[in-house]
Amino acid sequence: MTFPLEGGCTCRAVRYRMLTEPLIVHACHCRWCQRQTGTAFALNALIETERVEILAGEPECLVTPSPSGKGQKIHRCPTCRIAVWSNYAGGGDKVRFIRVGTLDNPDVLPPDVHIFTMSKQPWVVIPPGARSFHEYYKSEEVWSPASLERRAKLFPS
Ligand SMILES: [Zn+2]
Ligand SMILES: [Zn+2]
Repeated sequence: MTFPLEGGCTCRAVRYRMLTEPLIVHACHCRWCQRQTGTAFALNALIETERVEILAGEPECLVTPSPSGKGQKIHRCPTCRIAVWSNYAGGGDKVRFIRVGTLDNPDVLPPDVHIFTMSKQPWVVIPPGARSFHEYYKSEEVWSPASLERRAKLFPS
């Protein structure tokens, strides 16, 4: 297995380690992600905050507007301002959305699911057989049993 994985910002002031595989990897084609990344989609690996170790630096947290109205907390290197992860209202501070492109080897985490393909840029072709949703999905139908179990531990009902 490829874990742990390390990553960080461009100036290397912030370095982190993902201790295990993520819960799931999203390619999000929503307009908000397009604007925030300046490109066609965001690639986020969702993982428990406690499974991410900060090796160097202290990411700075900035709250930006989000479609839910509850805001997205973007964590950036205080020096080069590259964003390394975000927290969304849904998972709160317990789940980090790691920006896959900040991993030293981002190739190992392709998307498990494409979401908000309703606003996908027309030139982006979803690979045949890939799971994709017009908007969002029900975790119970998409996440692996192991990931659902991890989520239940994180958010006991
Ligand atoms: Zn930096
Ligand atoms: Zn999005």
